[in-house]
Amino acid sequence: MDGFTAARLVETRWDDAHAATLTPEQALLYRSNLLGADTRITNYGGGNTSAKLTMADPLTGAPTRVLWVKGSGGDLGSMTLDGFATLYQDKLLALCTRYAGPEQEDAMVPLFAHCSFNLNPRAPSIDTPLHGFVPFAQVDHMHPDAIIAIAASADSRSITRQIFGDSIGWLPWRRPGFELGLWLQRFCAEHPTARGVVLEAHGLFTWAEDGRACYDTTLDVINRATDWLATRSRGRKPFGGAIAAPFDRGPRRELAAAILPTLRGLAAAERPKVATFDDSDPVLEFVTGRDMAALAALGTSCPDHFLRTKIRPLVLPFDPARDSAADLLARLPAALAAYRADYAAYWRRCARPDSPAMRDAYPVVVLLPGAGMITLAADKATARIAAAFYGNAINVMRGASSVSTYRGLPEQEAFDIEYWLLEEAKLRRLPPPRGLAGRVALITGGAGGIGMATARRLIDDGAAVVICDIDRDALDAAAAALRAEYGADAAAAVWVDVTSEAAVAGLYREAALAYGGIDICVSNAGIASAAALEDTSLALWQRNMDILATGYFLIAREAFRMMKAQGRGGSIVFVASKNALAPSSGAAAYCAAKASEVHLARCLALEGAPFGIRANVVNPDAVLRGSRIWAGDWGAQRAASYHTTRDELEAIYRDRSLLKRSVYPEDIAEAIAFFASDRSAKSTGNMLNVDAGNAGSFVR
Ligand code: NAD
Repeated sequence: MDGFTAARLVETRWDDAHAATLTPEQALLYRSNLLGADTRITNYGGGNTSAKLTMADPLTGAPTRVLWVKGSGGDLGSMTLDGFATLYQDKLLALCTRYAGPEQEDAMVPLFAHCSFNLNPRAPSIDTPLHGFVPFAQVDHMHPDAIIAIAASADSRSITRQIFGDSIGWLPWRRPGFELGLWLQRFCAEHPTARGVVLEAHGLFTWAEDGRACYDTTLDVINRATDWLATRSRGRKPFGGAIAAPFDRGPRRELAAAILPTLRGLAAAERPKVATFDDSDPVLEFVTGRDMAALAALGTSCPDHFLRTKIRPLVLPFDPARDSAADLLARLPAALAAYRADYAAYWRRCARPDSPAMRDAYPVVVLLPGAGMITLAADKATARIAAAFYGNAINVMRGASSVSTYRGLPEQEAFDIEYWLLEEAKLRRLPPPRGLAGRVALITGGAGGIGMATARRLIDDGAAVVICDIDRDALDAAAAALRAEYGADAAAAVWVDVTSEAAVAGLYREAALAYGGIDICVSNAGIASAAALEDTSLALWQRNMDILATGYFLIAREAFRMMKAQGRGGSIVFVASKNALAPSSGAAAYCAAKASEVHLARCLALEGAPFGIRANVVNPDAVLRGSRIWAGDWGAQRAASYHTTRDELEAIYRDRSLLKRSVYPEDIAEAIAFFASDRSAKSTGNMLNVDAGNAGSFVR
């Protein structure tokens, strides 16, 4: 995403000594992983590779030509051998006799599975004939920005010829499928010495008899294109030059955080969404460019791009020189309504009699002039990938518009891909979203025992989580553990002291930048202290009040504001204590502070109801495992008051309970997950004790 300069040239990473140790199919995988791991070579999830290998037929043992080609789905950079579909090459070629012409090309797709070799269950992709019909043993199909920049230029044919002469050919736009496979076959027959072809508005095909030679050709073609673009665009200002310098980092993040919750709420009318914010240099260069709005309106070019990004982004009505965040906020509803109306008009203009119904009409990519790019999708990974794809599109527009005139895909072609019946069938096969998919949960005290169990439980249900804590080391360790278990998109970590108004405001800003806002707030950060009333110092009293009463107030007030801005309701869950209802002797400060949490939750329930914001309380008791509270003084003091050791305490509490069972952090997390989800949609102002039964805390 850094423009086309010599620094972008791709260096070979092929290791002959390593390749010599590999079987032919392993060598194909090696090449695929090398190519797919470099975003200068192909975009995420884009491109595919193949090899035609001779293998023993499992039925006859006879040597048979087999097409190994990357199957549907997955990513080249990280795929494994089971990601390849394998097909009898002669059966695939024989399908030509069943082909009834371009209008019926989709009917060929189900036949690919009938060519399957060795009962391989991997579904062949739509690109299978493109590989199978090229009469060379090794084929690469990549989506490099440098080539797409040329492929999306108005005079892409003559540019291709200028750069590559006869060695690389050019084919006009045709969506991937059986017909394009036949075009490639014909091209190869007519140009036997060509080493590849640029596909207009799409990408690159290269081939060779040998895997290393194919890899080298792919890199060479990309590098020559990059070099040519670098030379031709030298001295030109990208995107028509900057209208003004971008906002500095602080103000632009402040601006984005101020509008994100409202934007996310408006865009989530049909289903919950998670947002990302990108203010990287290439994005900033685009959103400050004079030609940004005009280029964005042309739509993206590569078919892979707009399947993820929609045909065009929403450019927010914001003049960085004049407008404030409040101005923009006031304009957001109309801007989104206009985008939806445009999208619906596009659907009506292009829909065919059998087209799928119009999908969610809200934008995926939103450009904030002077400040950055926001993407909105069903989950963080999808939003992040959409941002990466629009980053590719920006790069392509930069290249094409600095050497020629950038051209998007014709609208009808774009529509036919977006609403392709085969694509629709894939969408229908997806499992239903999990209960908290698209929701964001903020968990205070997230590095602690109950906090971590809650984070895991809510992520399991599909939520993204923002864990926050005052203990930096513990927070870092907790975030690292969650990311190792669930991947980097699942959790963000933000330091906070819940007693500080400024720190809490900063926490919510970071949450907005990480995921666009929050839907669930679990106020859980806490301490415990024990002291007889007369020995309770004002400082101890105040510390309990600061963290447990004031801290819960500050966290809930900001959650309330953010949820109101989103306009989609929300769930606030307080982790109070059995001591809020049935105090323990010798812990007045803690018990009184915990009791205040319960009453605050009721106040929130009253004021939140008109906005669909619910507030409920979970009351744990004696959750010793994983608790940092119990590992500290509190545990020692409780053990002393029971005249026992800390190790014996769990058994004492278990035996004290009505059900004679120990309570674990996961039990508390389960109750929190219930209040967090729509399963409790009709409960507010409620509480749930998770204490294995304690008559003193029965709720009346
Ligand atoms: P824990 O100590 O494991 O976790 C609490 C976390 O809160 C810690 O990571 C701590 O660093 C953090 N924290 C403390 N002060 C903070 C501040 N000012 N700002 C931000 N973070 C701060 O304890 P736990 O057992 O997981 O307890 C979680 C909640 O459950 C607490 O509110 C506690 O009072 C309540 N609770 C626990 C039990 C139990 O038996 N464990 C029983 C009743 C209530």
